[in-house]
Amino acid sequence: MSQATLILLGAGSSSRFETSVKKQWLYSGDIPLWLQVAQHFEQTGYFDNIIVVSSSEEIHHMKHFADYTFVTGGASRQESLNNALQIVTTEYVMVSDIARCCVPAEMIKRILDAREKAACIVPVLPVNDTLYMDGSPIDREQVKIIQTPQLSHTPTLKKALSTKTLFTDESSAIAALGHKVIFVEGSPLAHKLTRIDDLDKLPCINEPSLQTLTGFGIDIHPFEEGKPMKLCGVTIDVDYGFKAHSDGDVAIHALIDALLGAAGMGDIGELYPDTEATYAGANSAKLLEDTLRRIRAFGLEVGNIDMTILAQAPKLLPYKEQMRNRLASLLEIPSHRVNIKATTAEKLGFVGRKEGVTVHAVATLNYFNWKKSLNGKLS
Ligand code: MG
Repeated sequence: MSQATLILLGAGSSSRFETSVKKQWLYSGDIPLWLQVAQHFEQTGYFDNIIVVSSSEEIHHMKHFADYTFVTGGASRQESLNNALQIVTTEYVMVSDIARCCVPAEMIKRILDAREKAACIVPVLPVNDTLYMDGSPIDREQVKIIQTPQLSHTPTLKKALSTKTLFTDESSAIAALGHKVIFVEGSPLAHKLTRIDDLDKLPCINEPSLQTLTGFGIDIHPFEEGKPMKLCGVTIDVDYGFKAHSDGDVAIHALIDALLGAAGMGDIGELYPDTEATYAGANSAKLLEDTLRRIRAFGLEVGNIDMTILAQAPKLLPYKEQMRNRLASLLEIPSHRVNIKATTAEKLGFVGRKEGVTVHAVATLNYFNWKKSLNGKLS
Protein backbone atom coordinates (compact mmCIF):
# COMPACT_ATOMS: atom_id res chain seq x y z
CA MET A 1 0.00 0.00 0.00
CA SER A 2 1.38 3.42 -0.96
CA GLN A 3 1.93 5.85 1.83
CA ALA A 4 -1.16 7.75 2.89
CA THR A 5 -1.97 10.23 5.65
CA LEU A 6 -5.44 10.71 7.08
CA ILE A 7 -6.69 14.18 7.97
CA LEU A 8 -9.76 14.26 10.21
CA LEU A 9 -11.46 17.63 10.23
CA GLY A 10 -13.31 18.47 13.42
CA ALA A 11 -12.96 22.21 13.88
CA GLY A 12 -16.57 23.15 13.21
CA SER A 13 -18.68 24.86 15.84
CA SER A 14 -21.60 22.35 15.67
CA SER A 15 -23.92 25.34 15.21
CA ARG A 16 -26.71 23.19 13.68
CA PHE A 17 -26.50 20.51 16.34
CA GLU A 18 -29.05 22.14 18.72
CA THR A 19 -27.39 21.01 21.96
CA SER A 20 -24.74 22.48 24.27
CA VAL A 21 -22.41 19.61 23.27
CA LYS A 22 -20.02 19.84 20.34
CA LYS A 23 -20.93 16.81 18.24
CA GLN A 24 -17.34 15.50 18.17
CA TRP A 25 -17.63 15.25 21.96
CA LEU A 26 -20.76 13.09 22.12
CA TYR A 27 -19.87 9.92 23.96
CA SER A 28 -20.12 6.54 22.28
CA GLY A 29 -19.75 4.15 25.21
CA ASP A 30 -16.98 5.73 27.26
CA ILE A 31 -15.03 7.43 24.47
CA PRO A 32 -15.79 10.68 22.62
CA LEU A 33 -16.93 10.40 19.03
CA TRP A 34 -13.82 12.00 17.52
CA LEU A 35 -11.68 9.32 19.18
CA GLN A 36 -13.93 6.48 18.02
CA VAL A 37 -13.66 7.80 14.44
CA ALA A 38 -9.85 8.17 14.61
CA GLN A 39 -9.48 4.67 16.09
CA HIS A 40 -11.75 3.20 13.40
CA PHE A 41 -9.54 4.61 10.62
CA GLU A 42 -6.38 3.62 12.50
CA GLN A 43 -7.58 0.02 12.84
CA THR A 44 -7.82 -0.35 9.05
CA GLY A 45 -4.00 -0.21 9.07
CA TYR A 46 -3.95 1.85 5.86
CA PHE A 47 -2.52 5.09 7.25
CA ASP A 48 1.02 6.09 8.19
CA ASN A 49 -0.13 9.11 10.13
CA ILE A 50 -3.42 10.48 11.44
CA ILE A 51 -3.86 14.24 11.84
CA VAL A 52 -6.81 15.52 13.86
CA VAL A 53 -7.77 19.15 13.22
CA SER A 54 -9.67 20.98 15.95
CA SER A 55 -9.81 24.19 18.01
CA SER A 56 -6.88 24.90 20.35
CA GLU A 57 -9.15 24.59 23.42
CA GLU A 58 -10.23 21.12 22.30
CA ILE A 59 -6.75 19.99 21.31
CA HIS A 60 -5.51 20.77 24.83
CA HIS A 61 -8.10 18.26 26.11
CA MET A 62 -7.80 15.76 23.21
CA LYS A 63 -4.10 15.21 23.95
CA HIS A 64 -5.09 13.48 27.19
CA PHE A 65 -7.07 10.87 25.24
CA ALA A 66 -4.71 9.76 22.49
CA ASP A 67 -1.39 10.36 20.82
CA TYR A 68 -2.38 11.56 17.35
CA THR A 69 -0.92 14.55 15.53
CA PHE A 70 -3.09 17.56 16.37
CA VAL A 71 -3.34 20.69 14.25
CA THR A 72 -5.30 23.87 15.05
CA GLY A 73 -8.12 24.62 12.63
CA GLY A 74 -8.79 27.84 10.76
CA ALA A 75 -11.79 30.03 10.01
CA SER A 76 -13.01 27.80 7.14
CA ARG A 77 -12.82 24.11 6.21
CA GLN A 78 -10.25 24.99 3.55
CA GLU A 79 -8.07 26.97 5.96
CA SER A 80 -8.20 24.07 8.44
CA LEU A 81 -7.25 21.64 5.69
CA ASN A 82 -4.37 23.85 4.52
CA ASN A 83 -3.05 24.04 8.10
CA ALA A 84 -2.94 20.23 8.24
CA LEU A 85 -1.58 19.76 4.68
CA GLN A 86 1.53 21.74 5.63
CA ILE A 87 2.82 18.77 7.59
CA VAL A 88 1.74 15.99 5.20
CA THR A 89 4.71 14.31 3.50
CA THR A 90 3.08 11.12 2.13
CA GLU A 91 2.20 10.78 -1.58
CA TYR A 92 -1.52 10.47 -0.86
CA VAL A 93 -3.80 12.12 1.63
CA MET A 94 -7.32 11.14 2.64
CA VAL A 95 -9.53 13.87 4.10
CA SER A 96 -12.58 13.06 6.19
CA ASP A 97 -14.88 14.95 8.50
CA ILE A 98 -15.21 13.63 12.05
CA ALA A 99 -18.95 14.06 11.52
CA ARG A 100 -18.84 11.22 8.92
CA CYS A 101 -18.48 8.85 11.81
CA CYS A 102 -19.52 5.47 10.42
CA VAL A 103 -17.56 5.22 7.12
CA PRO A 104 -17.31 1.47 6.39
CA ALA A 105 -13.80 -0.05 6.13
CA GLU A 106 -14.68 -1.53 2.67
CA MET A 107 -15.43 1.96 1.39
CA ILE A 108 -12.07 3.26 2.66
CA LYS A 109 -10.36 0.35 0.87
CA ARG A 110 -12.29 0.98 -2.38
CA ILE A 111 -11.10 4.58 -2.38
CA LEU A 112 -7.47 3.68 -1.63
CA ASP A 113 -7.41 0.89 -4.26
CA ALA A 114 -8.24 3.46 -6.97
CA ARG A 115 -5.45 5.85 -5.93
CA GLU A 116 -3.35 5.57 -9.11
CA LYS A 117 -6.26 6.22 -11.47
CA ALA A 118 -6.70 9.97 -10.86
CA ALA A 119 -5.55 12.96 -8.79
CA CYS A 120 -8.67 12.66 -6.62
CA ILE A 121 -10.86 9.66 -5.79
CA VAL A 122 -14.38 10.54 -4.71
CA PRO A 123 -17.04 8.25 -3.20
CA VAL A 124 -20.52 8.94 -4.56
CA LEU A 125 -24.08 7.77 -4.04
CA PRO A 126 -26.57 7.41 -6.89
CA VAL A 127 -29.76 9.45 -6.84
CA ASN A 128 -32.80 7.18 -6.64
CA ASP A 129 -35.51 9.82 -6.69
CA THR A 130 -36.95 11.60 -9.70
CA LEU A 131 -35.34 14.98 -10.14
CA TYR A 132 -36.70 18.21 -11.62
CA MET A 133 -34.76 21.28 -12.61
CA ASP A 134 -36.42 24.51 -13.78
CA GLY A 135 -39.77 22.70 -13.97
CA SER A 136 -38.57 19.76 -16.12
CA PRO A 137 -37.44 16.25 -15.15
CA ILE A 138 -33.73 15.60 -15.60
CA ASP A 139 -31.73 12.39 -16.14
CA ARG A 140 -30.88 11.24 -12.61
CA GLU A 141 -28.10 8.97 -14.00
CA GLN A 142 -26.17 12.18 -14.65
CA VAL A 143 -26.50 13.34 -11.02
CA LYS A 144 -24.37 12.10 -8.13
CA ILE A 145 -24.22 12.80 -4.43
CA ILE A 146 -20.63 13.52 -3.43
CA GLN A 147 -19.35 12.11 -0.15
CA THR A 148 -16.19 12.19 1.90
CA PRO A 149 -13.62 10.84 2.64
CA GLN A 150 -11.87 11.68 -0.62
CA LEU A 151 -8.32 10.63 -1.48
CA SER A 152 -6.01 13.09 -3.20
CA HIS A 153 -2.52 13.09 -4.66
CA THR A 154 -0.86 15.29 -2.00
CA PRO A 155 1.22 17.69 -4.20
CA THR A 156 -1.79 18.26 -6.49
CA LEU A 157 -4.13 19.00 -3.58
CA LYS A 158 -1.62 21.39 -1.99
CA LYS A 159 -1.42 23.28 -5.30
CA ALA A 160 -5.20 23.22 -5.83
CA LEU A 161 -5.86 24.75 -2.41
CA SER A 162 -3.17 27.42 -2.55
CA THR A 163 -5.70 29.93 -3.86
CA LYS A 164 -8.14 32.42 -2.36
CA THR A 165 -11.09 30.65 -4.04
CA LEU A 166 -13.11 28.67 -1.48
CA PHE A 167 -14.02 25.11 -2.50
CA THR A 168 -16.54 22.92 -0.70
CA ASP A 169 -14.42 19.76 -1.11
CA GLU A 170 -11.08 18.54 -2.47
CA SER A 171 -12.51 17.18 -5.73
CA SER A 172 -13.86 20.58 -6.85
CA ALA A 173 -10.48 22.22 -6.12
CA ILE A 174 -8.57 19.53 -8.03
CA ALA A 175 -11.05 19.60 -10.95
CA ALA A 176 -10.72 23.41 -11.12
CA LEU A 177 -6.98 22.92 -11.62
CA GLY A 178 -7.77 20.69 -14.63
CA HIS A 179 -6.80 17.37 -13.02
CA LYS A 180 -8.71 14.12 -13.28
CA VAL A 181 -11.28 13.18 -10.63
CA ILE A 182 -12.89 9.73 -10.59
CA PHE A 183 -15.84 8.32 -8.69
CA VAL A 184 -16.12 5.13 -6.67
CA GLU A 185 -19.13 3.69 -4.90
CA GLY A 186 -19.88 5.42 -1.57
CA SER A 187 -22.11 4.21 1.25
CA PRO A 188 -25.23 5.48 3.02
CA LEU A 189 -23.29 4.78 6.25
CA ALA A 190 -20.94 7.65 5.38
CA HIS A 191 -23.85 9.93 6.28
CA LYS A 192 -22.78 13.16 7.95
CA LEU A 193 -23.85 13.93 11.53
CA THR A 194 -25.26 17.45 11.28
CA ARG A 195 -28.43 17.48 13.38
CA ILE A 196 -29.30 15.45 16.47
CA ASP A 197 -31.88 13.40 14.47
CA ASP A 198 -28.99 12.10 12.31
CA LEU A 199 -27.87 9.98 15.26
CA ASP A 200 -30.71 7.65 14.41
CA LYS A 201 -29.08 6.91 11.03
CA LEU A 202 -25.63 6.20 12.44
CA PRO A 203 -25.59 2.68 13.93
CA CYS A 204 -21.87 2.70 14.78
CA ILE A 205 -22.47 5.20 17.63
CA ASN A 206 -23.20 3.40 20.88
CA GLU A 207 -25.27 4.72 23.75
CA PRO A 208 -23.20 6.76 26.18
CA SER A 209 -21.80 4.87 29.17
CA LEU A 210 -23.61 5.40 32.49
CA GLN A 211 -20.25 5.76 34.25
CA THR A 212 -19.96 8.54 36.85
CA LEU A 213 -16.87 10.74 36.99
CA THR A 214 -15.84 12.20 40.36
CA GLY A 215 -13.81 15.32 41.15
CA PHE A 216 -12.53 17.02 44.27
CA GLY A 217 -11.65 20.68 44.93
CA ILE A 218 -10.32 22.72 47.81
CA ASP A 219 -9.76 26.44 48.28
CA ILE A 220 -8.64 28.76 51.08
CA HIS A 221 -8.93 32.55 51.32
CA PRO A 222 -7.97 34.91 54.17
CA PHE A 223 -10.36 37.63 55.30
CA GLU A 224 -9.99 41.25 54.22
CA GLU A 225 -11.68 44.19 55.99
CA GLY A 226 -14.12 46.41 54.11
CA LYS A 227 -14.74 44.08 51.16
CA PRO A 228 -18.17 42.58 50.36
CA MET A 229 -18.32 38.85 51.16
CA LYS A 230 -19.60 36.40 48.54
CA LEU A 231 -20.06 32.70 49.25
CA CYS A 232 -21.73 30.37 46.74
CA GLY A 233 -22.72 33.49 44.79
CA VAL A 234 -24.68 34.86 47.79
CA THR A 235 -23.80 38.15 49.57
CA ILE A 236 -23.13 37.54 53.27
CA ASP A 237 -24.01 40.48 55.50
CA VAL A 238 -20.71 41.14 57.33
CA ASP A 239 -18.22 44.02 57.14
CA TYR A 240 -15.34 41.91 55.80
CA GLY A 241 -14.81 39.78 52.71
CA PHE A 242 -12.04 37.64 51.20
CA LYS A 243 -8.64 38.77 50.05
CA ALA A 244 -8.37 37.64 46.41
CA HIS A 245 -7.66 38.66 42.81
CA SER A 246 -11.32 37.89 42.03
CA ASP A 247 -14.38 38.54 44.25
CA GLY A 248 -12.90 35.80 46.49
CA ASP A 249 -15.88 33.41 46.46
CA VAL A 250 -13.88 30.60 48.01
CA ALA A 251 -16.82 28.13 47.81
CA ILE A 252 -17.32 28.60 44.07
CA HIS A 253 -13.56 28.29 43.51
CA ALA A 254 -13.47 24.92 45.31
CA LEU A 255 -16.54 23.86 43.32
CA ILE A 256 -14.98 24.85 39.98
CA ASP A 257 -11.93 22.74 40.84
CA ALA A 258 -14.16 19.79 41.73
CA LEU A 259 -16.00 20.08 38.39
CA LEU A 260 -12.78 20.46 36.41
CA GLY A 261 -11.31 17.55 38.32
CA ALA A 262 -14.19 15.26 37.34
CA ALA A 263 -13.91 16.41 33.73
CA GLY A 264 -10.14 15.89 33.63
CA MET A 265 -9.75 19.52 32.61
CA GLY A 266 -7.03 20.78 34.96
CA ASP A 267 -7.72 23.45 37.57
CA ILE A 268 -9.13 26.94 38.05
CA GLY A 269 -5.67 28.56 37.87
CA GLU A 270 -5.10 27.16 34.34
CA LEU A 271 -8.45 28.35 33.02
CA TYR A 272 -8.72 31.71 34.79
CA PRO A 273 -5.18 32.76 35.79
CA ASP A 274 -5.01 35.24 38.69
CA THR A 275 -2.12 36.94 36.87
CA GLU A 276 -4.53 38.11 34.14
CA ALA A 277 -6.10 41.55 34.46
CA THR A 278 -9.34 40.17 32.91
CA TYR A 279 -10.03 38.30 36.13
CA ALA A 280 -9.32 41.19 38.56
CA GLY A 281 -12.42 41.45 40.78
CA ALA A 282 -14.04 38.74 38.62
CA ASN A 283 -17.55 37.63 39.54
CA SER A 284 -16.96 33.97 40.46
CA ALA A 285 -20.57 33.08 39.55
CA LYS A 286 -19.69 34.06 35.97
CA LEU A 287 -16.60 31.84 36.10
CA LEU A 288 -18.79 28.96 37.26
CA GLU A 289 -21.16 29.54 34.34
CA ASP A 290 -18.20 29.52 31.98
CA THR A 291 -16.90 26.28 33.53
CA LEU A 292 -20.33 24.71 33.02
CA ARG A 293 -20.33 25.79 29.35
CA ARG A 294 -16.90 24.18 28.81
CA ILE A 295 -17.86 20.95 30.57
CA ARG A 296 -21.04 20.67 28.52
CA ALA A 297 -19.23 21.38 25.27
CA PHE A 298 -17.04 18.35 26.08
CA GLY A 299 -20.08 16.08 26.37
CA LEU A 300 -20.51 16.06 30.16
CA GLU A 301 -23.41 16.89 32.50
CA VAL A 302 -23.35 17.73 36.20
CA GLY A 303 -24.63 14.89 38.41
CA ASN A 304 -24.52 16.23 41.98
CA ILE A 305 -22.32 18.37 44.16
CA ASP A 306 -21.48 18.40 47.83
CA MET A 307 -19.34 20.79 49.84
CA THR A 308 -18.18 21.53 53.36
CA ILE A 309 -17.42 25.11 54.34
CA LEU A 310 -15.03 25.34 57.30
CA ALA A 311 -15.66 28.72 58.95
CA GLN A 312 -15.42 29.85 62.57
CA ALA A 313 -16.95 33.10 61.31
CA PRO A 314 -19.25 34.30 59.84
CA LYS A 315 -22.34 32.32 60.91
CA LEU A 316 -23.59 30.56 57.78
CA LEU A 317 -26.71 28.75 58.97
CA PRO A 318 -29.09 31.58 57.88
CA TYR A 319 -27.63 31.48 54.34
CA LYS A 320 -27.41 27.74 53.65
CA GLU A 321 -30.71 27.36 51.80
CA GLN A 322 -30.07 30.47 49.74
CA MET A 323 -26.57 29.27 48.83
CA ARG A 324 -27.90 25.86 47.85
CA ASN A 325 -30.58 27.34 45.60
CA ARG A 326 -28.12 29.80 44.05
CA LEU A 327 -25.65 27.03 43.12
CA ALA A 328 -28.45 24.81 41.78
CA SER A 329 -29.59 27.67 39.60
CA LEU A 330 -26.06 28.44 38.34
CA LEU A 331 -25.48 24.75 37.54
CA GLU A 332 -29.01 24.29 36.12
CA ILE A 333 -29.69 21.22 38.29
CA PRO A 334 -32.41 20.69 40.94
CA SER A 335 -31.60 21.82 44.50
CA HIS A 336 -31.78 18.26 45.83
CA ARG A 337 -28.60 17.49 43.92
CA VAL A 338 -26.71 20.29 45.69
CA ASN A 339 -25.66 19.89 49.30
CA ILE A 340 -23.93 22.47 51.47
CA LYS A 341 -22.50 21.71 54.88
CA ALA A 342 -20.92 24.25 57.22
CA THR A 343 -18.77 23.55 60.25
CA THR A 344 -16.49 25.47 62.59
CA ALA A 345 -12.92 24.38 63.30
CA GLU A 346 -13.44 24.21 67.06
CA LYS A 347 -11.21 27.32 67.35
CA LEU A 348 -8.22 25.39 65.96
CA GLY A 349 -5.82 26.68 63.32
CA PHE A 350 -6.29 29.68 61.00
CA VAL A 351 -9.98 28.93 60.53
CA GLY A 352 -10.44 28.69 64.31
CA ARG A 353 -8.63 32.00 64.79
CA LYS A 354 -11.10 33.61 62.32
CA GLU A 355 -8.39 34.47 59.82
CA GLY A 356 -10.05 32.87 56.80
CA VAL A 357 -12.21 30.10 55.37
CA THR A 358 -11.52 26.72 53.75
CA VAL A 359 -13.95 24.94 51.44
CA HIS A 360 -13.87 21.31 50.26
CA ALA A 361 -16.11 20.35 47.35
CA VAL A 362 -16.97 17.14 45.51
CA ALA A 363 -18.74 16.93 42.16
CA THR A 364 -19.90 14.12 39.93
CA LEU A 365 -20.39 14.29 36.17
CA ASN A 366 -22.14 11.99 33.73
CA TYR A 367 -21.84 11.71 29.96
CA PHE A 368 -24.47 13.77 28.15
CA ASN A 369 -27.27 11.33 27.36
CA TRP A 370 -27.86 12.14 23.69
CA LYS A 371 -30.07 9.06 23.39
CA LYS A 372 -32.59 10.67 25.76
CA SER A 373 -32.56 13.94 23.80
CA LEU A 374 -32.98 12.03 20.55
CA ASN A 375 -35.89 9.97 21.88
CA GLY A 376 -37.50 13.16 23.16
CA LYS A 377 -37.19 14.64 19.71
CA LEU A 378 -38.45 11.60 17.81
CA SER A 379 -41.40 10.81 20.09
MG1 MG B 1 -9.55 30.95 45.18
